[in-house]
Amino acid sequence: MSPNDDHSSKEAEEKVTSSFPQEIMEIRGDEVTEFFSQFENDAVCPLCGHDEMELMAAPEYEEDGKVEGFSDRPAISAITIDERPDIKRGMKSPAFSLSCTRCGYFSYVLVGKFLAWKRKNEAKK
Ligand SMILES: [Zn+2]
Repeated sequence: MSPNDDHSSKEAEEKVTSSFPQEIMEIRGDEVTEFFSQFENDAVCPLCGHDEMELMAAPEYEEDGKVEGFSDRPAISAITIDERPDIKRGMKSPAFSLSCTRCGYFSYVLVGKFLAWKRKNEAKK
């Protein structure tokens, strides 16, 4: 591996982690809850069967990085969809975090379907 290769792989990582598009940063928790509520099956925990899966909220950070509270935005993580270390490529996709309010079972839901639903709704207005 040459130093250049190392540099370009670091740049690629930064692109993934440094920022999401503005459209994703503007997602509000209440509209995601509305999106989930349209499904006939209520979210049921696969581990304990509890019917309350909570959309986790994005933390608000202080200057020093400490969490000072939670915002009305949903927590969004860049989930690794594909990794190809051999060619220094990969793909990440933004996802919401859901957790069971009883047992703590944790899962991700990709943001893409929500965004398509939101765009369609906004086009109707
Ligand atoms: Zn559970």
